[in-house]
Amino acid sequence: MKNSSSTVIPISSIGRARPAVAVPEVAVPATGMLLDRLGRPLTDLRISVTDRCNFRCSYCMPKDVFDKDYKYLPHSALLSFEEITRLARLFAAHGTRKIRLTGGEPLLRKNIEGLVEQLAEIRTPAGEPLALTLTTNGSLLARKAAGLRAAGLQRVTVSLDSLDDAVFRQMNDVDFPVADVLAGIDAALAAGLGPVKVNMVVKRGTNEQEILPMARYFRTHHAGKVVLRFIEYMDVGATNGWRMDEVLPSADVVTRIHSEFPLVPLGATAPGETAKRWAYADGGGEIGVISSVTQAFCHDCSRARLSTEGKLYLCLFASAGHDLRPLLRGNASDEDIASAIGHIWQGRADRYSELRALRGPDGDSGNGDAGSKGPRRVEMSYIGG
Ligand code: SAM
Repeated sequence: MKNSSSTVIPISSIGRARPAVAVPEVAVPATGMLLDRLGRPLTDLRISVTDRCNFRCSYCMPKDVFDKDYKYLPHSALLSFEEITRLARLFAAHGTRKIRLTGGEPLLRKNIEGLVEQLAEIRTPAGEPLALTLTTNGSLLARKAAGLRAAGLQRVTVSLDSLDDAVFRQMNDVDFPVADVLAGIDAALAAGLGPVKVNMVVKRGTNEQEILPMARYFRTHHAGKVVLRFIEYMDVGATNGWRMDEVLPSADVVTRIHSEFPLVPLGATAPGETAKRWAYADGGGEIGVISSVTQAFCHDCSRARLSTEGKLYLCLFASAGHDLRPLLRGNASDEDIASAIGHIWQGRADRYSELRALRGPDGDSGNGDAGSKGPRRVEMSYIGG
């Protein structure tokens, strides 16, 4: 039985349809200083390079929805590396400084190193290379870390929800062992992709008992080289059956760690940073907490997301994207496409998580069902985490 959807609907076709992206009549040239309606710059771009993943984490791509009948995007629908690079160059001209490759599982995209190589050539208007990172479940990282580094990748973020093999195998739901992900982290550090961020999604009642073992492990084995970050389980997408009572607030995570390893707060390294940083008082490195549910950080969100087939999403919780692919595959010039991107960003006023906090836990489910007031939200595996 499917938990939230009784038929298999390609997630890419869910949500409100937007009119085709048009080239604005009044040009919005790329000045490197683009701001949205709330004064937020477009400094970060997350690019989803595939809608496929080899894990079936229940909070992201639950097996009963993403099963053998699920229709993934055909290859012809995916942006090519050249198309992605062309867009990335235009985003850089608008002020983007950081690109994160994600998915789905980005290391499943064939010759992803080739894309990294192309993106590494891009320069900002000031002549600087972009910060180039990638988020992965780590399953293929031991094999790929050195090649990715050689291609120009600077850092990786690895998702790991537990060190307990039984808990981890159950959470990834494909029986994948912890040891292989740990080997991937080691390989990334050895290849020079550090400091490595390790993301743990905390679900109350599922893996909360793993918070302290994770903290202990990474302090002991990789102090200062791995930054462990705890993410609140988010109401992203519409298929994970999210419930507020399964969210463990980041404040609780900090209290638990502080009781064994005293922590001191650290300042942000950059505006728009998703994680609040804490240092171990004894100098054993740092951790971060990402409190998307209990302490929304929309006010300085500078992230845009590009889906696998070229739709631009202005918020992780959006229900529709702006389709740039027809412009790419039509005869639009770089100036036209840059202008369209500029116009879209200038119209942005999204602040979903702040509004959710105002509505309270009984607000819209966002899953597009009969009890939902709003359109169905897009899946994170499709627009990238
Ligand atoms: N496959 C890659 C990976 O596992 O890191 C990249 C894509 S995944 C969608 C990116 C991140 O989103 C992962 O760290 C994952 O744990 C996180 N994520 C997915 N669903 C989430 C949810 N409902 N709440 C919080 N984080 C979530």
